[in-house]
Amino acid sequence: MSGPSASRSPIHFFDLEPHELDQLCADWSWPAYRAKQLRIWVYQQGVTDPQQMSNFSKADRQRLAEVFVFTGGRVDKHQDSSDGTQKLLISWPDGASAETVMIPDGDRRTACVSSQVGCPVGCAFCASGIGGVKGNLSAGQIVEQIYALQSRGAAGRADTAINRVVFMGMGEPMANYNNVLKAVRILHHQECFNLSARRITISTVGVPPKIRELADQAMPLNLALSLHAPDETLRRQLIPWAHHFQLNDILDACRYYFSRTGREITLEYILLREVNDRPEQACQLVRLCRTIRANVNLIYYNEVESLAFRRPRGEDVAQFQAILRDGGVNTHIRKSRGRDIDAACGQLRKKQQEQKDQQNPPPHSQPLPVLADAPVPAKQTT
Ligand code: SF4
Repeated sequence: MSGPSASRSPIHFFDLEPHELDQLCADWSWPAYRAKQLRIWVYQQGVTDPQQMSNFSKADRQRLAEVFVFTGGRVDKHQDSSDGTQKLLISWPDGASAETVMIPDGDRRTACVSSQVGCPVGCAFCASGIGGVKGNLSAGQIVEQIYALQSRGAAGRADTAINRVVFMGMGEPMANYNNVLKAVRILHHQECFNLSARRITISTVGVPPKIRELADQAMPLNLALSLHAPDETLRRQLIPWAHHFQLNDILDACRYYFSRTGREITLEYILLREVNDRPEQACQLVRLCRTIRANVNLIYYNEVESLAFRRPRGEDVAQFQAILRDGGVNTHIRKSRGRDIDAACGQLRKKQQEQKDQQNPPPHSQPLPVLADAPVPAKQTT
């Protein structure tokens, strides 16, 4: 294989796994330690300007500058929440854009990353699903989100290395499986981000063949299933994509995942007022949890402008959790973070797109997304 030359399109550095970078350097007849040095500059020193890589010769720095694009994304928006949460909207020259969030919690710095532009799943309560999916993010674009969050922190404070990653931003990770898995390998590699598999979570609405494939990777990643309803009927109303797979098949695949990795499944349950937060639904969820090794994350819904779903009442959430706990289910209520900065996933990108559309209306008017079978939340009584 001949090495890339300046006449080819640049290579996105973060698209390369270590063995691919090693091979590229070998193709240039560089000694093997060169690739290692390059990774130290980028991943340990946070340096992506080849001109600053002082242990490379001028000619080698020139080659790096010609061959690679290190950070191809531009941060279009940056929001800081009063609770320390940071949200970035990044766009790339190929037209892709993604939201990415850093959530601090004690010594935890969790990056919540996007895997696709938009989302094919179309959950009735989510801003990312409005408008469908525009495309997949490359592995490099996924890794670059974490790098961008980390670089921002590093500029201000020394203790801001990202130490957890959750694939819970825009997109369905299993619908972009190969790129997500490649990004995970880069995050996990000790000469890159060196993140333990146990600190990486893949969140999915449930694609049984892909859950099984992931189980066979011999990497004990955390798997989170976006359940959001204790029964098939309501689930299919809330998650249109759920029509593709039977809940029983999804749960079977999750059981297989546990048997292969030993990792308990996390069931994500976004509470929507008077839609899925009733005591009888908590009882149904207890019964479901008795069939699988799982814990439950209860999540307060962050309201989205233009959608009718509402945040649950605190007392209803407390009652829901109490029923689960009385039923022996390990349950946590996830704190709401960054409520002052368009915290719900997809909102920032949606607003930016709306602003662009106002300035440059699209040539054909787009029909509003129709969610014909979405449940209509009950009218507010208070
Ligand atoms: S909640 Fe997640 S899976 Fe559902 S539409 Fe939004 S991004 Fe997609």
